[in-house]
Amino acid sequence: MTTKIANTVRQFKNVPCPFCGLCCDDLVVERNGKDGKKLKIAKNGCDLARRGFEAPVAGAVPKIAGKKASFDEAVAAAAAILKNSDRPLFSGMGTDIEGAKAVLQLADGIGGVVDHAASHALFRNFRVMQNSGWMTTTVAEIRNRADLVIFAGTDGVSVSPRFFEKCIWPKKALFTNLQKEREVVFLGRGPSIPSAAKPPRGGKKPTLISYDTKCLAELFGTLRALYHGRRLDAKQAVGVAISDLEKLIEKIKAARYGVIVWASGQIEETFGDLAVQAIAEFIKDINETKRFAGFPLGGGDNALGVAQTCTWQSGFPLRTAFGEGHPVHDPYLLSGRRLLVEGEADALVWTSAFRGDLLPPKRPKDTPCILIGVPGMKVSPGADVYIPVATPGVDHTGSFVRTDSVVALPLRKLRDNDLPSVAEIVGAIETVMRGGA
Ligand code: SF4
Repeated sequence: MTTKIANTVRQFKNVPCPFCGLCCDDLVVERNGKDGKKLKIAKNGCDLARRGFEAPVAGAVPKIAGKKASFDEAVAAAAAILKNSDRPLFSGMGTDIEGAKAVLQLADGIGGVVDHAASHALFRNFRVMQNSGWMTTTVAEIRNRADLVIFAGTDGVSVSPRFFEKCIWPKKALFTNLQKEREVVFLGRGPSIPSAAKPPRGGKKPTLISYDTKCLAELFGTLRALYHGRRLDAKQAVGVAISDLEKLIEKIKAARYGVIVWASGQIEETFGDLAVQAIAEFIKDINETKRFAGFPLGGGDNALGVAQTCTWQSGFPLRTAFGEGHPVHDPYLLSGRRLLVEGEADALVWTSAFRGDLLPPKRPKDTPCILIGVPGMKVSPGADVYIPVATPGVDHTGSFVRTDSVVALPLRKLRDNDLPSVAEIVGAIETVMRGGA
């Protein structure tokens, strides 16, 4: 819905936000300024959203080796780099589904490898889902049904600043008394934005249980043992008194519908998938007698949307190579970070259409880089070709998959911007490579 509130101000209501995986869809954004490009969040939103919607766009031009170039020249230079490459890596992949489809098509055509900047976190979850399965829930189920929410190694709000406002203590939910009944337990971290996790009047104050945050898997192993009534001689585990863990088990047993939230990108153990697996197995144990679910929080930069697109296009999740004439998936060998560090990719196409601080890992100096990034974005060492890109949900329409993987939200266009989308840039490079105009 759009409202014209003054000659030069246009107001957009119910705007979906693409700046984290929660994808809130209730923002009110105003477009102002003589050139019709300046945006301001008038209602709802958070600092992360403000940084995204209100980022300046003026003065962004393509560059070749740091020097200004036309769009066509930059596209031709990018195509030349890719023509000389045997194994280009397409990563970053901060883009909408339409952009991801274009990147996949180009990678498929020229034998590239695709990976997302967030794959390290994504694959901790995927490995558990693939190996032993899990039971997870949705944003709506947490909001409307959970009476106990345990945050395991995350505070929720450092990943999605409005998580508490939207899911834990929302003003409106199916059963409003849940607002007062709902119990929150933080394992390891208190809220990094205390006001964002403040209970409403009459709501229960969250409990904080601090533990050695490198031992999430061990903590859940202990909880599983206690849940099954095993006797532990130790007085404490991973820095927590056993009596405190026993109290938590009592809460879990008393809950009607509990949820454990984790953010795999924030797990501090090297083998974070073991921690995810310990949580997932604990949830399965509890489900033998009652309802309990997990909630993997993340999905920023449309990581889940890009992973889903790769899966439906190729049959595999990310970390997939197309150099053999058919897709080959390897979650370890085809890690984009590993390919760059080991010098196994001979060109990098790094895409970041949502934010300027999604940066690639250090690459060898002789690995050329094509940067498709938001205005003002810089990488080190500098990009051989830089093409400024429009942001989906701000400058053009698109689709974004929410953190619970069950909804692909349609993103809106809020202003006219001369910048092209990821799909347009990648499509133009592909056309040149095929010998077109
Ligand atoms: S919490 Fe995330 S989706 Fe919601 S407004 Fe903030 S950045 Fe946007």
